[in-house]
Amino acid sequence: MKTAEIERPDRVRLKALPPLALYVHIPWCVRKCPYCDFNSHERAGELPEKAYVEKLLLDLEGHLPSVWGRRLSSVFIGGGTPSLFSPESIDALLSGVRARLPLEPGAEITLEANPGTVEAGRFRGFRDAGVNRISIGVQSFDDRMLAALGRIHSAEEARRAIAAALAAFDNVNIDLMYGLPGQSLDMARADIREAASAGTPHLSAYQLTLEPNTAFWSKPPPLPEHDAAADMQVVVEEVLEKSSYQHYETSAFAKSGMRCRHNLNYWQFGDYLGIGAGAHGKVSFPDRITRHERAKQPAMYLQEAAVENRAIVPAELPFEFMLNALRLVEGFPVGLYTERTGLPFTTLQHGLERGEKQGLLTRDLKTIRPTERGQRFLNELLALFLPGETGARRSDDRGAARAIRISSPAAK
Ligand code: SF4
Repeated sequence: MKTAEIERPDRVRLKALPPLALYVHIPWCVRKCPYCDFNSHERAGELPEKAYVEKLLLDLEGHLPSVWGRRLSSVFIGGGTPSLFSPESIDALLSGVRARLPLEPGAEITLEANPGTVEAGRFRGFRDAGVNRISIGVQSFDDRMLAALGRIHSAEEARRAIAAALAAFDNVNIDLMYGLPGQSLDMARADIREAASAGTPHLSAYQLTLEPNTAFWSKPPPLPEHDAAADMQVVVEEVLEKSSYQHYETSAFAKSGMRCRHNLNYWQFGDYLGIGAGAHGKVSFPDRITRHERAKQPAMYLQEAAVENRAIVPAELPFEFMLNALRLVEGFPVGLYTERTGLPFTTLQHGLERGEKQGLLTRDLKTIRPTERGQRFLNELLALFLPGETGARRSDDRGAARAIRISSPAAK
């Protein structure tokens, strides 16, 4: 039987530019966690806060010609451990950002905090600097799990950090992990129940995975079996649903009206500037979509900020778009694809048909969304949109998995 030709346009045409966000990377931590493959570096002595903030602003200035006339819809200060920086440094950073690029009124400004590095006064300082959302890396409320993860804080410190954050901010997220070394289903249930009752309007729950170039990769701890981890995921979803959190993205849960706007912009294939060591970004123009990336090593970034810029090849765009948009539980409006990629809808057709046949996605005239099965087997679903995918079943989906990590906002 003859296979239908897959359309491969060689250029894009965008009628309107998407919203623009800013990601700021602060690359230092007190100690490197053994599971972490983010661009984070153990602090050695005093942090060069002033020099780094100056470099970040210089970095931002370099981006200005490509985003002239646009406004920032959100800012996310991630890491690493941004809460290691003083409120004064964060104030200097945000004032400098505002002086260079206008922020939309009410723009969401998030800062990531480690419970081992914050207290009430520091949270108030961040709020006074303009931060209006805090994301706390709790990971577990069980001291045995925290020790196994090499975290620098105790469960009690995590509880205190949440209370202090909620005293200063309306909008707080907790990051939690499951599938931890030696964790039972009951332990995972206790963790998620405590997280759900902590009173934060947003929760992110990730399964621990072993990543290359980490201490856990070289010496793997005893992790729960695949089926046990899948059961934990079900428990996480059930507990959060009962506590009125809406599951809106693979790992994200929010009370009504409290979805993370910055991350939604990634998942809806919006634009974002990335500044800081190892930060990457995406900027659209009427005739092309580009990606940029900075030097990973903080010392090198401080010296020269080597920039890598490249236009995304149009053939890669269907996959890049779906990699983000199919993480959304409610999917995306059909028109968003052409709006954000500048490609005709027909370029998705082949993958959509196969996804539907395999029960991985569903669509009507208005919306395309992953089915429950598609959410569980997201990598298989995404592999259908890889460039050059001819419809033959792939023997592995490492390409998709790798790309998910590259594109995920958490891949810092
Ligand atoms: S997990 Fe967070 S705190 Fe731990 S090393 Fe990575 S960025 Fe730092």
